[in-house]
Amino acid sequence: MKVGIIGGGVGGLGAAYYLAERGHQVALYERAPFLGGLASTFDVGGGRLERFYHHLFLSDTTIIGLLNELGLGDRLIWEDSKTAFYYKGKIYPFSTPMDLLRFKPVSLIDRVRLGLVTVYLQRVKNWRKFENTTAASFMRKWAGKRNYEVIWEPLLKGKFTTYHDQIAMPWLWTKFATRVSSRDKTFKEKLGYIRGSWGVLIDTLEERIKQRGGEIHTSTSVNRILTEGGRVTGLEVQSQEGQPAQRPFDLVIATIPSFALPRLLELPQEYAAKLHGVDYEGAIAVIWVLRQSLSPIYWLNIADPDIPFLLVLEQTNLVPSSEYGGKHIVYTANYVTRYDPRWSKSPEEIVQEYIPHMKKINPDFDESWIETYYVHKEPAAQPIVTVNYSEKMPSTRTPVKGLWLAAMSQVYPEDRGTNYSLKLAIEVARQAEEEMGRAE
Ligand SMILES: Cc1cc2nc3c(=O)[nH]c(=O)nc-3n(C[C@H](O)[C@H](O)[C@H](O)COP(=O)(O)OP(=O)(O)OC[C@H]3O[C@@H](n4cnc5c(N)ncnc54)[C@H](O)[C@@H]3O)c2cc1C
Repeated sequence: MKVGIIGGGVGGLGAAYYLAERGHQVALYERAPFLGGLASTFDVGGGRLERFYHHLFLSDTTIIGLLNELGLGDRLIWEDSKTAFYYKGKIYPFSTPMDLLRFKPVSLIDRVRLGLVTVYLQRVKNWRKFENTTAASFMRKWAGKRNYEVIWEPLLKGKFTTYHDQIAMPWLWTKFATRVSSRDKTFKEKLGYIRGSWGVLIDTLEERIKQRGGEIHTSTSVNRILTEGGRVTGLEVQSQEGQPAQRPFDLVIATIPSFALPRLLELPQEYAAKLHGVDYEGAIAVIWVLRQSLSPIYWLNIADPDIPFLLVLEQTNLVPSSEYGGKHIVYTANYVTRYDPRWSKSPEEIVQEYIPHMKKINPDFDESWIETYYVHKEPAAQPIVTVNYSEKMPSTRTPVKGLWLAAMSQVYPEDRGTNYSLKLAIEVARQAEEEMGRAE
């Protein structure tokens, strides 16, 4: 079977690897000059770093299984999670149940209430009962107004901007479920990383696909999906310098954002409406390469509307700084709408705006600590999951025979993650292969 794959992120590479291993003729097209999509890397201090921060949970079993299958299992490192919460100028540890009980910005009664809600959510298995409830209304009701205002409202606003009060509770529920399932035998939450970066996984997948005779074309966009009589027949592809060319395929798997699929072909109205119906938030990450460590925390949530970022993540508190030539790597990140003024700002303007706020995290912070910085922007970073999402989610099987979609917006109730993109893409590849086999 000749298979065309659109997108060279973790999902596209996973599907291509699965099908190439089963003897199919695979060709993958990625419009960027590099592979990896949202999990792609670039060189920093002699090491490789993700454009957007990445870690794993112990529950990410698909990606862990694949790393083992590829002989990369010994690359996984697991560390105790060091999470904290910034509120009104103070940093509060936020990793363990004891940290919650010591969280002074809310009263003792509210802390106990928060603890009870946390325990309840970690035990719930049937997330469907939350389908028509928003995270905001659930937390306001069960965790209480004060907990909502101090903790959940700033986080939801930071992550989902104008959508913050429309986000479905299953999205928040997965956060609790994931954290509890990422505890080891000592009940400590662990976070994982692939030594050498996600780039090691991406390079190995590329190598294996090519070894099986698969083709990988970077800097090559798919302009159109070709169809005839309701069935996919091929792709129109275009490399950066070249002319558009048509390539025949029996099966096409698109791993691009769901809203982008209707740009590539005419689709029946009902399915196209579903694709357009799911919005995505963008993300802007500043990567600070520092001469000194900013804080001992890995993941610092910022609950302060005056600070222009939601998250401060010190990579070198998860991965040794020796991986980056002794430099300390810090991400400051935001989720933003397409109207955010930062889309048009230069990296220098963004960094200058952020510098005074870095001093709030560590008053000793000084501009002289900055060796260099990078700014990465991504318009399709986080699908917006609103109430009753399972009815809104586009199906992976499209109305066009032989055309499948495996996008981040379809991993519900899980939240986006390389584990789930991989799992979805492999499952779609498996189903598509099975269906084609039956049709032959
Ligand atoms: C800020 C941020 C933090 C994250 N943190 C984590 C984390 O800690 N852990 C974790 O596991 N995951 C994390 N993720 C999520 C993870 O990166 C994604 O779930 C995963 O990488 C998505 O892979 P994908 O292949 O589905 O999509 P993408 O990576 O989006 O790949 C799609 C690819 O398709 C290409 N493309 C689009 N249109 C075309 C076209 N017409 N022709 C050719 N190519 C095209 C794009 O260039 C892109 O490379 C994070 C994501 C972000 C944005």
